[in-house]
Amino acid sequence: MGAYAYFQKKIVPLEDAKVGIMTHALNYGTGVFEGIRGNWNPVQRKTYLFRIKDHFERLTKSAHTLRIEIQESVEELCATTVEIVQRSGYQEDVYIRPLAYKSSEEIGVRLHNLQDDIFIFVHPFGAYLDAEKGIRCCTSSWRRVPDTSIPGRAKVTGIYVNSALAKTEAWDRGYDEAILLTHEGNVSEGSGENIFLVSGGVLITPPPAEGILVGITRNTVIELAAKELGIPTVERGVPRSELYGADECFMTGTAAHVTPVIEIDSRAVGSGGTGPVTRQIMDLYSEIIRGNNSTYQGWCTAVAPTSAPV
Ligand code: PMP
Repeated sequence: MGAYAYFQKKIVPLEDAKVGIMTHALNYGTGVFEGIRGNWNPVQRKTYLFRIKDHFERLTKSAHTLRIEIQESVEELCATTVEIVQRSGYQEDVYIRPLAYKSSEEIGVRLHNLQDDIFIFVHPFGAYLDAEKGIRCCTSSWRRVPDTSIPGRAKVTGIYVNSALAKTEAWDRGYDEAILLTHEGNVSEGSGENIFLVSGGVLITPPPAEGILVGITRNTVIELAAKELGIPTVERGVPRSELYGADECFMTGTAAHVTPVIEIDSRAVGSGGTGPVTRQIMDLYSEIIRGNNSTYQGWCTAVAPTSAPV
C-alpha cells in the first residue's frame, strides 16, 4: 500500500524512484512532460482520468522535438498510468506526471548520443488556483519564449524557467498569476494556462503561433463552447490593451481547470466577478471531468482504487 511510480520500465514504490545527480535532464533541462488530472468522483468512488490518450500523444510529439525516444506505445503508457493510479489507491483528486528525459549521466550540452527514459508518478493534487473566487493577474515583464528559441508547443522542462520567473514576479507583486506577452507585445498565455477573452459574444484566444502550449483544456473549451453553448472561438493575435476591455476573461489548464480572471493590471475585468459565459463553461467542464456527463464519457477513463487510502 502506498504511492507507486513507473520508473526504469517497472512499477515501483514512489520512494524507490530516484535519479542520479549527473542525469542530463536535471543538469540541462532536456526533458518533456505532461500533467494529467485524475478527478475523484465521491459518489461513484472512481477516479476519472481526463483525455489521457491526448496527453500521451502530445508527450510523444514533444519527445520527437527533443529527439527523445519513448519505447512504450501510447496504449502501453495509458495502461501503465491506470495501473499506478489504481495501485496508489488515492480517494481524492490526483495529478499524474509523465516525464520523458535524457537519462544519461554525462556532461555535455546536446540532444544526440544520449540515452532516454520515461517515468510516471501520481500525487494528490487539489485546486491549483482559486476558481470559485476568481484570480487577479498582471502582465509580466518577462516575455514568453518564442518558438525560435524553445518551441512552446513542446512541453519542455527547461522552458518552465520562463514560467517560473513570471509566476514568482506576479506573486511578489501580490497577484495570483502572470500573463506573458510575446516579444511583439501580444498576449500569449499564463505561466501554466491558456487564456480566453469573452468579447461581443465570442471567445477569443491567441493562436499556436503566439508561443503557447496548445492546451488540451483549451481544445476542450473550444469544442464545448461551439457544440454545447453555440459560442464560436476566434483564434487571433490579442494586443495587451484588449485585455482591459474584455467582457470576461478566463484561463484554462489541466491544473487550473477553467479559472475566471477577475482583475488584470489593477483593472476589473467586466463586472469584476465570474461572468455568465465563464460560469457556464466552468460548470460544464467540471461535470465532464468527473465522469458526470454521458455525452463526453469518451474523454474519461474510469479507475477504481484497489487499495485503502495512503
Ligand atoms: N500553457 C502552459 C505553459 C502550460 O504549462 C499549460 C499546462 N499544461 C497549459 C498552457 C495548458 O495546457 P493543458 O490544458 O493541456 O493542461
